[in-house]
Amino acid sequence: MRIAVFNTKSYDRRFLTEANAAFGHDLHFLEPRLEPATASLAAGHQAVCVFVNDVVDAEVLEVLAGQGTRLVALRCAGFNNVDLAAAHRLGIAVVRVPAYSPHAVAEFTIGLLLAVDRHIPRAWARVRDNNFALDGLIGRNLHGRTVGVIGTGKIGALVARGLRLGFGCEVLAADLYPDPELERIGVRYVPRDELLRTAEIITLHCPLTPDTRHLIDTATIDAARDGLMIVNTSRGALIDTAALIEGLKSRKIGAVALDVYEQEADLFFEDLSNEIVSDDLFQRLLTFPNVLVTGHQAFLTEEALAAIAETTLRSAADAEAGKMLQNRVDADRIATSK
Ligand code: NAD
Repeated sequence: MRIAVFNTKSYDRRFLTEANAAFGHDLHFLEPRLEPATASLAAGHQAVCVFVNDVVDAEVLEVLAGQGTRLVALRCAGFNNVDLAAAHRLGIAVVRVPAYSPHAVAEFTIGLLLAVDRHIPRAWARVRDNNFALDGLIGRNLHGRTVGVIGTGKIGALVARGLRLGFGCEVLAADLYPDPELERIGVRYVPRDELLRTAEIITLHCPLTPDTRHLIDTATIDAARDGLMIVNTSRGALIDTAALIEGLKSRKIGAVALDVYEQEADLFFEDLSNEIVSDDLFQRLLTFPNVLVTGHQAFLTEEALAAIAETTLRSAADAEAGKMLQNRVDADRIATSK
């Protein structure tokens, strides 16, 4: 299949090319992200392959459909950037990679949590400057603390399990579908409001939907415990960034670790070190000593990239052969994904 791979980085090229030895697709790597201005680059390609910040809205899909594209292959799990209703209407199938490596994201989440809580990046910066003073680096034991996990799907379940069994935390959870395996190890499902009010640390692992957009906002921050720590490796818009900054300024929020950010599409995955970044909210976030931000890299392991490439190219092969698409984003998700 002739596939236009948008938003290509060196690692995408490497892992897709390696995996393609088994499939023989005609891969056309493109650096720009997919958006209305670049959709014409997909002309003549039956499939486009895109990532989290590509724009796959109705306008883009209309152009793609008009040019003969029949498949949108997301090389990620989330699909909040795709207008599924428009794709359905235009006869474009949408596939994703539902579970390339939940371990990659879960492990990174716990790493971020520990790093911000125990001030590891600040300590490293000091040591590199031959400053071995410990003032300001006091952390807290994770053992015995109450952590709230919102969304206990593939990633959230691993985080909950690690925190419960590995660190001895009290783990509260909120999900539409409680996981009996987690309940068996002592994870306690509670209503989301109760979790938001009682947890000392909240880690977000639910998808971005109308119900979860800005689930951390001024009201939830006001109602939370003093010194709340928030970890987000899911999707940026789960958090109202302006409210988060106010919570940090008032010291209501004790620490924040983010791998995702509401307006990340304008920043992440690019080297902007020689540019002036005009996103004032993002720049303000970076000024807090108790905030740690990474640029959407929780997924970035060898294992995950290999699995993403393999699953994506297999879906394209199945589409070409007219087989059932196992990783199709179902029409019945349309109602919950917008
Ligand atoms: P998943 O579908 O396995 O789990 C999501 C869980 O959230 C499900 O159990 C679902 O029932 C639950 N949920 C849905 N709506 C909810 C709500 N309103 N309140 C509480 N729970 C709700 O997904 P996953 O593979 O565990 O991924 C979780 C999220 O992580 C994805 O949506 C994606 O946005 C994000 N992600 C980030 C990275 C990264 O690199 N930072 C990588 C992969 C995935």
